[in-house]
Amino acid sequence: MNDCIFCKIVDKEIPAEIVYENEEVVAFNDINPQAPVHVLIIPKKHIPTLNNIVGEQKKLIGEILLVAQKIAREKGIAERGYRTVFNCNADAGQDVFHIHLHLLGGRKMTWPPG
Ligand code: AMP
Ligand code: ZN
Repeated sequence: MNDCIFCKIVDKEIPAEIVYENEEVVAFNDINPQAPVHVLIIPKKHIPTLNNIVGEQKKLIGEILLVAQKIAREKGIAERGYRTVFNCNADAGQDVFHIHLHLLGGRKMTWPPG
């Protein structure tokens, strides 16, 4: 049995505000947004962390980035700028163990991140 919350969003077992979907990926609004635009882009396939990616998934990871670019354009933040983040494991604060790219924008970001 798969208790992964993001797999449940992929399977439409729990609701999410889906902003984009294709055969490989789903993108939806983060439930606790940290910026005016905060979208999570995930593969439909369950991959726990960035450490688990293998070479044959290169195209899938590229697809996730292209979807981030597309959503950034649609939301009107592409030119002003935005941040994309994959958190991996404890030190980065990964809470959901199904890889997800955070797309954050609509406000000025600070660096270094906390
Ligand atoms: P991370 O800390 O990188 O694992 O980020 C997990 C993100 O998932 C957080 O920003 C949460 O707010 C978000 N999140 C958790 N559950 C849901 C959900 N059901 N729908 C949308 N976003 C969620
Ligand atoms: Zn999953």
